[in-house]
Amino acid sequence: MTDTHAITGIDRLITGDPALGAGPLGIIEHATVVIDGELIAWIGPDAEAPRVARTLDGSGCVGLPGLVDCHTHSVWAGSRANEWRRRLAGEDYSAILEQGGGILSTVRATRAASFAQLVDDCAGRLAAALDRGITTVEVKSGYGLTPHDERRMLQAAREAGERVGVDVHLTFLGAHTVPAELRGDRAAYVRQVIDEQLPAVADLADDIDVYVDRGAFTAEEGQAILQAGRDAGLGVRVHAEQVGYTGIAEAAAAIGARSADHLERLDEAGIAAMARAGTVAVLLPTAMLYLRDIAPPVEALRAAGVRMAVATDLNPGTAPSGDLWAAATLACITMGLTVEEALIGITAHGAAALGRDDRGVLSTGKLADIALFRTPPGEPVHEDVLVQRLDGHRAALVVKRGRVVRGT
Ligand SMILES: [Zn+2]
Repeated sequence: MTDTHAITGIDRLITGDPALGAGPLGIIEHATVVIDGELIAWIGPDAEAPRVARTLDGSGCVGLPGLVDCHTHSVWAGSRANEWRRRLAGEDYSAILEQGGGILSTVRATRAASFAQLVDDCAGRLAAALDRGITTVEVKSGYGLTPHDERRMLQAAREAGERVGVDVHLTFLGAHTVPAELRGDRAAYVRQVIDEQLPAVADLADDIDVYVDRGAFTAEEGQAILQAGRDAGLGVRVHAEQVGYTGIAEAAAAIGARSADHLERLDEAGIAAMARAGTVAVLLPTAMLYLRDIAPPVEALRAAGVRMAVATDLNPGTAPSGDLWAAATLACITMGLTVEEALIGITAHGAAALGRDDRGVLSTGKLADIALFRTPPGEPVHEDVLVQRLDGHRAALVVKRGRVVRGT
């Protein structure tokens, strides 16, 4: 009992559980959350709250489940700012890649970086995430592309997460691109991913991912890699239907993928397969914006009842932003999400995309991952303002697994 404390007086608490409060977001006004150890012990209106000796004041704030960024590439070295200039001047990404730029330049820099450097840089990114109220971050490998370098990336992410106090969900993405040394022999590289890289990371990784697209891996190669990952006990997720249509979203759903991500060119068969399998659609509006791409078929996903998550895709090239609030705003503006869908997308559905049902919703027995936000001066204390404003909101208070890690 010594570990019990409470946050009281939260103006609007978005629980994500419609049974607990008003509307689809389950909003409780003037709310209290009682925390025992790592978990939520009680949640409800202040007036009905049990007496707790130690309390924090949540007045003037909108409260949410700790945000979940379910798609990032948060471990890398080097910069791609110079390539951005070239892309602004009209150069094509695939042309830059074939000249050894793009992902390939990040692979070179990441392999050359020390382990300490990778951990430090990733920890800095995760600390910035925590400042924004993000308490769970998925991190992919994919800039190592050898058994040793892929494992090193995942270890760096794990160590950075432990240092910062953010839960890191580790995804093995050896099939991100074909490395320079095997550029002429894709089949040999696919064999290396399955036979050498996967065994080297299987004890560390939670999930496996493949970048299936024009200029990357084929749907057939992707399926073989994902199946091998599943056989090794990993969850399945996939970069799907982004630049060109390949059919991988449908195939991945058929083997029980947790999520299919990007989806700008997803078709009806893919949507139906995802709905059947309960595969979460992860929308990445920052990448869509930087690539000046078209929007995924949000209306059809909604009509089919596919859950939609929103993530940053944080990476040094096509989505150089770890701001999940900005992604939520962009998902509304450029993809047509409602405010409610955006908020569920960065909380409950983000957690669902990772297969983690212990978070993303605030109710008794769930992890006490909670983020409180103030709104800008002159604005009401309301979640609409947080989604409307493209301001990179920093949290006033963050509780991670029951511990106050930001604010007081
Ligand atoms: Zn990605």
